Amino acid sequence: MIDARDMDLKTAARTVLDRLGADTAALDGGSMASFSPVTGEQIAALAEHSAAEVTAAIDRAAAAFRSWRNVPAPRRGELVRLLGEELRAAKDDLGRLVSIEAGKSPSEGAGEVQEMIDICDFAVGLSRQLYGLTIATERPGHRMMETWHPLGVVGVISAFNFPVAVWSWNTALALVCGNPVVWKPSEKTPLTALACQAILDRAIARFGDAPAALSQVVIGGRETGEALVDDPRVALVSATGSTRMGRQVGPRVAARFGRSILELGGNNAGIVCPSADLDMALRAIAFGAMGTAGQRCTTMRRLFVHDGVYDQLVPRLIKAYGSVSVGNPLTSRALVGPLVDGQAFAAMQAALEAAKAAGGTVHGGARVTDAAPEAAFYVKPALVEMPAQTGPVLEETFAPILYVMRYSDFGSVIEQHNAVGAGLSSSIFTTDLRESEAFLSASGSDCGIANVNIGTSGAEIGGAFGGEKETGGGRESGSDAWKAYMRRATNTINYSRDLPLAQGVVFDI
Ligand code: NAD
Repeated sequence: MIDARDMDLKTAARTVLDRLGADTAALDGGSMASFSPVTGEQIAALAEHSAAEVTAAIDRAAAAFRSWRNVPAPRRGELVRLLGEELRAAKDDLGRLVSIEAGKSPSEGAGEVQEMIDICDFAVGLSRQLYGLTIATERPGHRMMETWHPLGVVGVISAFNFPVAVWSWNTALALVCGNPVVWKPSEKTPLTALACQAILDRAIARFGDAPAALSQVVIGGRETGEALVDDPRVALVSATGSTRMGRQVGPRVAARFGRSILELGGNNAGIVCPSADLDMALRAIAFGAMGTAGQRCTTMRRLFVHDGVYDQLVPRLIKAYGSVSVGNPLTSRALVGPLVDGQAFAAMQAALEAAKAAGGTVHGGARVTDAAPEAAFYVKPALVEMPAQTGPVLEETFAPILYVMRYSDFGSVIEQHNAVGAGLSSSIFTTDLRESEAFLSASGSDCGIANVNIGTSGAEIGGAFGGEKETGGGRESGSDAWKAYMRRATNTINYSRDLPLAQGVVFDI
């Protein structure tokens, strides 16, 4: 394993990329500077791919599709099995690069790579289970069935905060479903993308006969992404990022009748009921709200605590916020690492000011400067006691802020819970079966993820992942999310000597 303490982060990142066999020739001299949030230092300056280069990548992917779609799915699964093996071998290195580029703790960096390994395992099994149905037909001597076929080129656009896992959720599924991938990673995390490509290239080399350009990375920002979004040969655009980005991408893909999976922002809440196990709730809330420095789409951002337990739970939470360790994730065992950049810090401070103006009492939230380089942004997570769900509470600020509110009536707290734009993740802490079931029912949480006695973050890959409303409605990862990556055909076969028409229609000529 590379020990980043022994070298500057630029050198550490390149050492990892070299070891993985990535092409490091183009890391300098470009216009797209990339920084490590750990120290704020610049670690690369890559050239952005132009729209013409993206089009050329899609040309190559379209050619790869024509042969990959005819490879039997279990054989396609073999490539993903090899990818899983390569990821196991590269887990420490890739996890460390995630820490350098996204500022995650080593445990969270390694956890993200584990998620990649898990989705590969899932997809290998899936490669033998791309089932269709046989459906009862109303016509004698007929058979009706559903078949699933590869869809086409899949474009993946990803956010900085899960720089590698989101690619693997999409790519493992896309590959077994018979589709090539063109990936535009976040402009803030290009190096981990190059590392992933190198790891997949190793698997492809071992696989032997995969078509060229089955998986490609295009580097750049919004414009590079737009070239992917607008190309009609990109059958599916899977875009992960802010709701602002989704508002731009969704209509553009729809305008050309393309398919999209939108995985957008969250404003996730927890509800603590009178019967809750408060020790368990405390730990779950602390991880959900402060983990990854509040930079998960599933971070807990709102908390409703019943009047009867508020004074038992909230002072303990405030104490935990005061004592949580904040610091360099590579050189310390701190639980909370840096914000991604100065913009994130400014957005956090603006939200805290707005919360104060709306009557909130802020605990924490100050910048931590002890031993931190000036260009890095470390903050104490903030807990804000709010009189009501107003102002900044209604929006996602991508930073560690938890807004805490009291409630007394279960029915109205569910209404409050659902009264925000986003609909990603939610949780309830209760040992009362009625409350738990009501929360999970049709009139309960309106989110794509609803948990009981677990925080809002840290989903497993086996379930479909995604959310409703302004979170975009997309689903990826487990369950039957694979269906979005395939073309469904309904086939009816007449093996009789007659031609009965459906619905009893008569048309005798
Ligand atoms: P962002 O929206 O700034 O950028 C995300 C990606 O979209 C980047 O690759 C960016 O270059 C690209 N992009 C932006 N505008 C585009 C456009 N018009 N056309 C094409 N591409 C465009 O998000 P971020 O700051 O990197 O990530 C944080 C956000 O992502 C948060 O809102 C978080 O909740 C969300 N997120 C959601 C999920 C999820 O699964 N729901 C997962 C991770 C992050």
